[in-house]
Amino acid sequence: MSEYFQRRHGLYIGGEERSAASDSWFEVLSPLDEQPLAAVASAGEEDVALAVAAAERGLQTWSALAPKVREAVLLRAAQIMEAEGEARYLELLIRESGSTIGKAKFEINYTVDLLRTAAGEVRRLYGDTFPNDRPDRLSMVFREPLGVVAVVSPYNAPLALLCKMAAFPLAAGNSVVVKPSEETPIIALAFARLLVEAGLPAEAISVLPGFGAECGAPLVNHPRVDGIALTGSTQTGKLIGAAAMQRMVPAQLELGGKSALLVLRDVDPERAAAIAVAGMFNHGGQICMANSRIVVEEPIYDAFCAAIKRETEALKIGDVFDSDCAYGPLINRRAVEKIQQHQADALAQGASLLCGGRVRSGLVYEPTLLLDPPRDASIWREESFGPLASIVRAADLDEAIALANDSQYGLSAGVLTHNVQWGFSAARRINAGAVHIGMHSFQSNALAPVGGSGYSGVGRSGGKFSTEEFTELKWVSVELDGML
Ligand code: NAD
Repeated sequence: MSEYFQRRHGLYIGGEERSAASDSWFEVLSPLDEQPLAAVASAGEEDVALAVAAAERGLQTWSALAPKVREAVLLRAAQIMEAEGEARYLELLIRESGSTIGKAKFEINYTVDLLRTAAGEVRRLYGDTFPNDRPDRLSMVFREPLGVVAVVSPYNAPLALLCKMAAFPLAAGNSVVVKPSEETPIIALAFARLLVEAGLPAEAISVLPGFGAECGAPLVNHPRVDGIALTGSTQTGKLIGAAAMQRMVPAQLELGGKSALLVLRDVDPERAAAIAVAGMFNHGGQICMANSRIVVEEPIYDAFCAAIKRETEALKIGDVFDSDCAYGPLINRRAVEKIQQHQADALAQGASLLCGGRVRSGLVYEPTLLLDPPRDASIWREESFGPLASIVRAADLDEAIALANDSQYGLSAGVLTHNVQWGFSAARRINAGAVHIGMHSFQSNALAPVGGSGYSGVGRSGGKFSTEEFTELKWVSVELDGML
């Protein structure tokens, strides 16, 4: 049993572990058996004030360090994560977030990649110069850190997404205060300690486990928080976006999705089915970019449905310690109930069940596919965030694109075709932050600008796109002929 379990974890503020001012604690349950893993301090407004004050001091230290020193810290963090990440965090990711071994390893490796990519951005915070009509004047642009950044993270990829939201603002010279998901605070505490071990000044990162209303809200509303990074649901994004606009601070909002996968008439239905299953059921569909709306062109609809049924029913699920396991439990009972409600609503409105549809055991839900739900059913309109997808038919490419765009979300899409014209035409016409041709909609790349439109959020994260969001541009000009 890992060193993280069956003990108390305090808040982590300025390098010190401490109880919450209210001395409240909450239990973190493992989705594997719904039993307590550990007790964690529950932060509130007073703790937020302490952490923000520490972050203001951390900002002074960290932002004053030479870029090569900041780069070295992030590279050292990557090195520790690469050498020891599995030994330290694999079991934690499995037990705290319900990851399979494969998903946990993927997250650790992706975190290494993100840390290296963030380190690479430290020396690329280029400014600019631009022409001035007055020859005796110079105009230039500096890129400066925002200041203290509040990082509010979700539970589904608690290590990699936290790293993505914290490492790039840090690379740009900001300090961060993290409010991790109440489902997965322990991995966040462990990640912050790793950064400090790698040389990050301890006051440049604090972690405040706690709940949205009690801890997240005072944090994003704190008058000395200068920027916000949220990865979470659209519902939370609306609240945080409104709070950010009240104070006029920038907020990067990476929110939910209802991504479409277009399966066009020229593809092999068997191969397409395998891709659709991989893009949908990874981590049990608890992936923002999961292709939960599968749109199939009429000529191959029947063959595709037969193939995806076979492929889905062959998935091994439940035992996260089995290296062949596709996915384990959902995060909690509410997540299971949401799937059940979406499924029941669609079936009541005339959809039919192709496969799955039941709890296998505990919080493990069968991979479930529904055919032809009406367009106003919750399964089509709302994010289910579990192993539940719908399949609909389209007469032609135009209808397939119209169906893809029949959503308030706009995060990602996949287009399966060998035809370059069809693929690019769809890519240009689908309203989403990313469109992947010949692939499913769940793709990751540390350099890519990940984000969406509509209900999927505002802003882009990854590589230089993140550091750009967490820096402020400043126009500086100088009169060469002395002061006028
Ligand atoms: P959530 O919105 O319930 O919680 C996210 C975080 O926000 C948590 O730390 C939570 O405590 C906090 N929070 C909740 N209410 C708050 C408030 N009023 N003020 C401040 N903070 C508050 O999301 P979740 O269930 O943890 O994560 C799943 C969601 O995240 C899904 O919608 C998924 O699509 C989305 N997601 C998006 C991306 C992306 O890149 N776009 C990636 C992963 C997950």
